[in-house]
Amino acid sequence: MGVAGGGICLIDLNTHGVSRGKPWDKMAHRDLPQGELFFDNVVCPGDQMIIDQQSYEAITEFNLLLCNMATSTNYTSAAQASYDCALQYSTQRIQGGKRLCDHTAIQAKLFDMFAKVQACRATSRSVMIFNSASMQKSFQYSTAAKVFCTNTALDVVTSGIHIFGAAGLSKGLLIEKIYRDVAAGNFEDGSNESLAICAGNKIVREYLNRTE
Ligand SMILES: Cc1cc2nc3c(=O)[nH]c(=O)nc-3n(C[C@H](O)[C@H](O)[C@H](O)COP(=O)(O)OP(=O)(O)OC[C@H]3O[C@@H](n4cnc5c(N)ncnc54)[C@H](O)[C@@H]3O)c2cc1C
Repeated sequence: MGVAGGGICLIDLNTHGVSRGKPWDKMAHRDLPQGELFFDNVVCPGDQMIIDQQSYEAITEFNLLLCNMATSTNYTSAAQASYDCALQYSTQRIQGGKRLCDHTAIQAKLFDMFAKVQACRATSRSVMIFNSASMQKSFQYSTAAKVFCTNTALDVVTSGIHIFGAAGLSKGLLIEKIYRDVAAGNFEDGSNESLAICAGNKIVREYLNRTE
């Protein structure tokens, strides 16, 4: 992986040269406090290194394996919540003389969302079960679940916003909040493009190791 040769250390934030930025004012994931850290010529004492260069690549891969798996379940929940909101709204809103849910085009859109939520759930659950039970955990499976579920959740919430129409853009409405959160899925825990390259590389290496 591209991260080989790095390390992880613990640094006291009161150490000379360490400073913090303001809490990050994000459009999404606002319940997850984050902010910048600045390191100006800071030297980390050896005993504060918790992951050294030799183990960094393996630890990072394992961390990504766990986080990607968890992210796939989080975004499955977001997809389910988007579907639930849109279905409920479609039974309330009257357009063209009947409820939205009575229009066949809306029924087809709801079915498409429903099918995608089921696909996310099946994928994230099977990877969670496999990686929890197996001694030989799979980075590729976790990454497949993360990339699939985050991309699919974005499809589902976008359809949900369409069903709400202009009302879906109202600030603070649940579907609007989910839409903002789901927008981060492509790059949260690694950008999907980069993860696909890492997992694709691993698939090829493992195949060549088995066959050459
Ligand atoms: C809600 C949230 C929670 C997060 N939590 C954590 C956390 O707990 N721990 C943690 O370490 N990080 C965390 N992150 C950071 C996250 O891992 C990074 O945002 C992500 O890896 C992308 O890095 P970046 O934002 O610096 O974008 P960049 O690396 O600047 O990438 C910007 C764009 O350029 C593309 N790109 C980057 N490099 C290349 C390249 N070499 N070739 C081609 N295209 C490239 C990317 O795909 C992306 O589209 C979190 C992010 C979010 C949004």
